[in-house]
Amino acid sequence: HAPVAHLKVVETDEVVAQPPVQLAAAALSCVIPCFNEAANLRLLLPLLEQLLQGIGLRWEVIVVDDGSSDDTSDVARTWCQLAGFRLVRLSRNFGKEAALSAGLKAARGDAVVLLDGDLQHSPQLIGKMVEQWRSGAEVVYAVRENRADEGALKRVGTRLFYRAVNISSRTPLPEDAGDFRLMDRKVVDALLALPERNRFMKGLYAWVGFKTVALPYTPAPRAEGQSRFGALRLLNLALDGITSFTTWPLRLISVIGLLLAVPALGYGVFLVLSHFISGSDVPGWSTIVVSLMFFMGIQLVSVGIVGEYVGRIFEEVKARPLFLVREEHGHGLAERTP
Ligand code: UDP
Ligand code: MG
Repeated sequence: HAPVAHLKVVETDEVVAQPPVQLAAAALSCVIPCFNEAANLRLLLPLLEQLLQGIGLRWEVIVVDDGSSDDTSDVARTWCQLAGFRLVRLSRNFGKEAALSAGLKAARGDAVVLLDGDLQHSPQLIGKMVEQWRSGAEVVYAVRENRADEGALKRVGTRLFYRAVNISSRTPLPEDAGDFRLMDRKVVDALLALPERNRFMKGLYAWVGFKTVALPYTPAPRAEGQSRFGALRLLNLALDGITSFTTWPLRLISVIGLLLAVPALGYGVFLVLSHFISGSDVPGWSTIVVSLMFFMGIQLVSVGIVGEYVGRIFEEVKARPLFLVREEHGHGLAERTP
């Protein structure tokens, strides 16, 4: 009987050595940052539920109410009676980037999908994202195929912004990629571990790296309501991005300073020499006024640029929390055991 017993041992060993079948147990979190999206949530949540049931993973949907003044929370709360839906309500409007951070922190899935609440990010793409994830991608982001829906000014501005950031960044931002993406748990944990207050998410996604796949898509028009990102807010966001991911503006100041100082010195030497050699008078006051104003202007701009960075340091040093949660409802996935 000895050989048979031996054989049995080998068999059980083999069974143990095989990787556990994890796919069936894999879980997906969907995070939706919402600021006054009640009307859109009424459309999106049923769609999403149906779609997630079809994918065949365990799932949860986390609605982050970013201080809405409409009944976004009420809509989300009625859905929270169903298993899988959760509402995280922030104490006020903290902005989309903070709302995303709140959602990422609350999510317990093995992968997290971020999508807007206004149906611009079509939920149908989630299935494809999950496919890519299951075949090994750690980040799957959606890239807009075209910007035909946007005005010329916004397109030019966007191009300039990507130029300005990517000119010196070691981790270039992929153009036309937004927050619509799936991230593996590893990536989410990496993002959550980043200590900075100023969460320019696009930059942070690029910074953490990981195996990344892009999926082209065409954003749908907003279902209800209007975009909260007007020209001024976009400009602000762009400046945030540039000052938190590059330092070339500071270097530019030094270069401009040098470029101006060297010729000025040369001109000064020339004036002194010509006074002694040919006895000519110092030329008139207009030169002085013009150059004074020019240099003062450059100085003020320089101080402003330095100020942007100092302001950034100030925000970081205060070390306030990114967001405050007012209340939570519903049951999503069970607590993660690390
Ligand atoms: N959003 C948010 N907090 C804000 C502004 C916007 O959570 O302070 C959400 C908004 O509800 C939406 C997403 O961020 O789900 C994208 O916002 P929006 O559609 O206004 O921007 P756009 O699509 O024009 O970039
Ligand atoms: Mg939108």
